[in-house]
Amino acid sequence: MEYQSTRDKKCVASPQEAVLRGLAPDGGLYVAQPDADFDWQAVLGLDTLGMAERILSSLLPGFSDMGALVRRAYPVGRFETQELTPLVRVGDRYVLELFRGPTSAFKDVALSMLPQLMTAARAQLGVQDESLILTATSGDTGKAALAGFCDVPGTKILVFYPENGVSEVQKQQMVSQPGGNVGVCAVRGNFDDAQTGVKEIFAAGLRESGGVRLTSANSINIGRLAPQVVYYFKAYAELVRCGRISVGEKVDFVVPTGNFGNILAGYLALCMGLPVGRLVCASNKNDVLTDFLRTGVYDRRRPFYKTVSPSMDILVSSNLERLLWLLTGDEAEVAGYMRALKEQGHYTVSPDLLAKLHAHFDCDACSEEQTLAAIGEVWRGEGYLMDTHTAVAWHAAARHATDAPVVVLSTASPYKFPAAVLSGIGGDLGGTDYDRMFRLHELTGVPIPPALARLQKLPVLHRDVIDRAEMSDYVQRRALRWDE
Ligand SMILES: *Cc1c(COP(=O)(O)O)cnc(C)c1O
Repeated sequence: MEYQSTRDKKCVASPQEAVLRGLAPDGGLYVAQPDADFDWQAVLGLDTLGMAERILSSLLPGFSDMGALVRRAYPVGRFETQELTPLVRVGDRYVLELFRGPTSAFKDVALSMLPQLMTAARAQLGVQDESLILTATSGDTGKAALAGFCDVPGTKILVFYPENGVSEVQKQQMVSQPGGNVGVCAVRGNFDDAQTGVKEIFAAGLRESGGVRLTSANSINIGRLAPQVVYYFKAYAELVRCGRISVGEKVDFVVPTGNFGNILAGYLALCMGLPVGRLVCASNKNDVLTDFLRTGVYDRRRPFYKTVSPSMDILVSSNLERLLWLLTGDEAEVAGYMRALKEQGHYTVSPDLLAKLHAHFDCDACSEEQTLAAIGEVWRGEGYLMDTHTAVAWHAAARHATDAPVVVLSTASPYKFPAAVLSGIGGDLGGTDYDRMFRLHELTGVPIPPALARLQKLPVLHRDVIDRAEMSDYVQRRALRWDE
């Protein structure tokens, strides 16, 4: 199987090249049609790692020992359970807990696997240059990437976060990160400043590169998308195992969506034969995707809101481009939409494409008040504590009319957002995030993930703070002389 750019079918890459490059050279994203003849029923009886091996081998063929890569990505103890992503019954729905990994964020699932894929791709392609992963983060990606790439040979990672744009817990998670190959640096400004700075560095490249190649760990990389397909199969298999469905019956999935990676993985599962019913795209107050799926008009000319579900605060949702290609197979059409988005800030898909979107996708948006109300209702009614992102999806699930079983994807531990979760259940908000974390525990009895409970006591290892204008020099200096 060969990958190609969403914008040019002549712009091709092997799965290994696509994983190492991240973005295609023409600015498009690497895509390939999944294997429609995949033997999806055969994987339902496997354990999670066995499933991951088969599914990843199908999506990313040509890696020499996918089984070994999967076992290295998910060694016993890295996740809270060897299931990786447990399915929990909550009322008459199911919650798929994706946050049981080392940093309590769903990005752990893919960012545990990506370093293995990159290392194997480097070996297979005979790449000698060191990889320098550059990441701007609004909170969760940074820590999950640091944990994933920590001490991976041949690789260094630099994470930039907005000095005052991440929560206390998220900041401490990053600045306490050990590892000889990791760097963490605050940027004065907001997330957009940090992200723009990183994009400029990618565009300019490194001067006198000194055997270093820049790579990205964000969800435009196909190596981050593919590992997420696995938990859709896992959830389905679990519903079969517990007798809720028989093989072949459809299941609906409700997904709290930002960059569209998570929900796109659900669509890839569907393309591989899994009986996925409706895919419900849940947005917070930043409802650009919900508007798009309803009307076919993508319009980023709108205010950007900071919400209690910050990982979904987005105006341009990158992975949507892959879905447009998968549904049309037409590079010129996709390239046209993306050009219009860049130049005019909006595009309108054809009626035919909108009908194809409506064949699989539903959508719903959720206000700040509704997010907090959902946390309170589910806690009081079902005794289940959700984080704010999950609550956005729950709200959509509650309004979604269906006869199929409904799985709500849960993307973060409630302890990562203790202030908002406490206000959802009516707790006192005084003190620091750590005070609130322990108060939330006293009120609910829900265990605090051990890595978060210890966090406050860990030493701060990274103290650099720079202006956006200094980012390029900073990368240059760190890339060439790491030990400074
Ligand atoms: C990244 C993230 C999301 C959004 O996922 P996408 O794949 O970008 O749509 C939702 N919730 C949390 C907690 C996240 O960290």
